[in-house]
Amino acid sequence: MCGIIGYTGKNEAKGIMLDALETLEYRGYDSAGIAVCANKTGETRIYKCAGRVKDLRNLCENETIEGTCGLGHTRWATHGGVSDENAHPHKYEKVTVIHNGIIENYRDLIKKYDLYDKLHSQTDSEVVAAVLSHFYGSDPYLAIQKTVLKLKGTFALGIMFEDIPGTVFAVRNVSPIVTARTESGAMLASDVTVLGQYSKEYFVLPEGHILTLKENAVELYDLSGEPVEPEWLTVNWDLNRSSKGGYPFYMEKEIMEQPEVIGETIEARIKDGIPDFTEDGVPDSLLGDCDRVCVVACGTAMHAGLVGKALMQSLVRMHIDVELASEFMYADTVVDDKTLVIAISQSGETIDTLEALKYAKRNSAKTLAIVNVRGASIARESDYVIYTNAGPEIAVASTKAYTTQLAILYLLTGRMAYVKRVFDMQKM
Ligand code: GLU
Repeated sequence: MCGIIGYTGKNEAKGIMLDALETLEYRGYDSAGIAVCANKTGETRIYKCAGRVKDLRNLCENETIEGTCGLGHTRWATHGGVSDENAHPHKYEKVTVIHNGIIENYRDLIKKYDLYDKLHSQTDSEVVAAVLSHFYGSDPYLAIQKTVLKLKGTFALGIMFEDIPGTVFAVRNVSPIVTARTESGAMLASDVTVLGQYSKEYFVLPEGHILTLKENAVELYDLSGEPVEPEWLTVNWDLNRSSKGGYPFYMEKEIMEQPEVIGETIEARIKDGIPDFTEDGVPDSLLGDCDRVCVVACGTAMHAGLVGKALMQSLVRMHIDVELASEFMYADTVVDDKTLVIAISQSGETIDTLEALKYAKRNSAKTLAIVNVRGASIARESDYVIYTNAGPEIAVASTKAYTTQLAILYLLTGRMAYVKRVFDMQKM
């Protein structure tokens, strides 16, 4: 996982990107870098180093980095060690790239396009810049389209072309990108915690679509070049929750927020003393018609699932399994149209959970997601979604996201027991 940011507009890009990278640092923090494109010439200058964003800030401090369009990246290495050269952005001829994800066939691409001795890093990401450059004549869309068709793996790519100053392009597969118009221009990022500081409206870049950010426009195209109308969403959390709010650490602040966010998560979903998911659009038939429940999740969310299992088994008296999402499809897990698969993920972007969800759907299971980030991939892929109201969770150790997941599982168990008439909630 890593954090990416792209900006173009009226303001100097350097400061905006350094601030954004600090917010995104929880996603990856072994190296950081920015690329800024000079307004008139398009000349792209890159500053990057192994270390934290504060090290990058020091590196940039005494430099005059002028330009109102740029890309930024905070890395968590997958391919190539932690070094200055392997930090992003990567530039190959006219093309500058930042990448979140893994290009599985990067060795094949090095061979196919004879990139031996031409690369400066050991990363899979620089190969993408080289392949883009290979296909780039003067049409950026064609180059992106052709490159994407060659890539196997996961990617969220921010791209600049040196001869198209002031424009940022992006494309993704699995790894997240959200985007917004801001007062001063347009922005993309890995998650909404950054965008929320600049705009209330945003959209999730759909997979296999090309995004173009210009000073006055955010444009979306499908891979064949047809314009597509984005599905705009509203930031659903209090912006103050994206900052430390006077606490020394995000984690401490997030612990202290728990009573409030658990209250918000529960209150809206209790009607006449009974858990109620009407507002979420979750029908009782989903909970009543299943013979079996299977929770898929990773890490902390899986532990929430284990609590859900203990609850549902004893209160609803039904069979429930909790599966580690990364093992789910490889274990040929048996699910069918009588199975309710519940996918739990704070970010809604946990790749193994997303893949497990897709597997469940292919096998006719009904799917319900418990997710914190509105419009995230898992939320969109699932038949139904219940959002926790935790607000942004920045600390790596989960606190309020976990406890709001538990709150939803308690409510679900209550509703399921009520729908299946296992016990009478009115008597509780
Ligand atoms: N695979 C890329 C690298 O190792 C990106 C890693 C990331 O998503 O942080 O540089």
